[in-house]
Amino acid sequence: MATLFTKIINREIPAEIVYEDEHVVAFRDIDPKAPVHILIVPRQEVSGLAALPELGDHTRILNAAKTIAEQEGLSGGYRLVINQGPDAGQSVDHLHAHLLGGRTLTWPPG
Ligand code: AMP
Repeated sequence: MATLFTKIINREIPAEIVYEDEHVVAFRDIDPKAPVHILIVPRQEVSGLAALPELGDHTRILNAAKTIAEQEGLSGGYRLVINQGPDAGQSVDHLHAHLLGGRTLTWPPG
């Protein structure tokens, strides 16, 4: 069965898509934790970072993050987060990186 994010990628569920290429799609988080909060998702259904094959979409996710950060005007900085597994609070089992910015981000995260 298709994941929630695959349904967004396939336009079966609405989302504000801000970037897409052959390998990844990015859209605004429905419950933003910062003025800019974008999810970068590989088109390929991989359950999480732990399941990403060695020659997977790592570089494509990072390159998309750079491009989107520039597009969003995050010249002051930003953060990229991947929640892997229950201890990190992963709630959607389709690999995604959170791009957060537009405010000062505290460290360490909770
Ligand atoms: P995680 O907790 O790391 O698995 O992140 C999942 C993220 O998906 C959360 O930040 C949710 O707010 C976000 N999310 C869930 N449903 C949607 C949706 N329909 N459109 C956009 N973002 C969503």
